[in-house]
Amino acid sequence: MLPDRWRHFINCLPKGVNLLAVSKGHPSSSIRCLAELGQIDFGESRLQEAIPKVEELKDLSFLRWHFIGHLQKNKVRGVVQTFQVIHSVNSFALAERISRIAVEEERCPQVMLQVKFLEDPNKGGFAPDQLSELWPRLIDLPNVRLTGLMTMAPKNLDLIQTRTLFKNCREFANQLDLPDCSMGMSQDWQVGVEVGATWLRLGSALFGARPDNLNLLTD
Ligand SMILES: *Cc1c(COP(=O)(O)O)cnc(C)c1O
Repeated sequence: MLPDRWRHFINCLPKGVNLLAVSKGHPSSSIRCLAELGQIDFGESRLQEAIPKVEELKDLSFLRWHFIGHLQKNKVRGVVQTFQVIHSVNSFALAERISRIAVEEERCPQVMLQVKFLEDPNKGGFAPDQLSELWPRLIDLPNVRLTGLMTMAPKNLDLIQTRTLFKNCREFANQLDLPDCSMGMSQDWQVGVEVGATWLRLGSALFGARPDNLNLLTD
């Protein structure tokens, strides 16, 4: 049962580790059910899917919507209008665009930068050196609140390798003086907790399986 799964996570997560309920593929009724228990943060990876849900739930004005998917240029305005937090900023051009549009929209989204510690053709993200080099320009962007890094383990990693990767992410965030690390999903959230994640992005472990095709759609 969804409420029991939610309570299980809420009770076992240490202080400072936040649960992002990844509701993509699940109806707004499931989101409402968790919101009634006290869950505030929900993650979606497609703007088109999120817009009607946000609309249906707009009476719950305390909800915080997190964008976690691949963000295409032409979706930035919609995402800035709809979401309070963006976890998946994977290039300087995208950060700059978010900043420019956020100024126009008089918004100030919280942003996490997606970092790629290992080669992975399926995922985007800053290489760590590249991020260090761009850092002075990133922190100067107006209307963007940079609070952390986000990373994902490539599919073929075991949990020991994932731990190393997540540890690198935590250390890099510390170097940059960023409090947040968004790392850990249904498969590897325990590892995230062990090495200093502040946001776990949990979908299937919380809501149950999604329809298969949804795993492939990212924007
Ligand atoms: C779908 C998704 C998740 C949640 O995945 P689960 O394995 O279902 O927990 C987390 N992060 C991102 C970026 C996602 O796209």
